[in-house]
Amino acid sequence: MERLSGDYYVFPGATVRALRRYKGFLQPPGRRPLYPQDAHCSCRGCSLDDVRHARDVLEEVLQQLPSRSRAELKRQVASLDAVYLGRTLPDPFADRRQRRADLWWRRRLTVGGETM
Ligand SMILES: [Zn+2]
Repeated sequence: MERLSGDYYVFPGATVRALRRYKGFLQPPGRRPLYPQDAHCSCRGCSLDDVRHARDVLEEVLQQLPSRSRAELKRQVASLDAVYLGRTLPDPFADRRQRRADLWWRRRLTVGGETM
């Protein structure tokens, strides 16, 4: 699927890397809130530094996968989503501040509460 994808950000190995990045972001123990951060470079490797981009990639992959593998990945992503929701804070100004604010995982406070 990754190889056949026409999406620049979905490349062989992208799913595993996105999943690993998502898990890594949520890994710090404790209850301290976590803040997504912009990636410094927009190439498909560095973009994964931004956990929100990793979640974008997973979403794209989920849509392209055949149903059986989709269900499996979806379970993993859903449990990470629950942690992400618990560890990040809602951004009340997401519509003004966040890019692609239609995606729920982008409606969260970023480092310093600002992105632009
Ligand atoms: Zn780069």
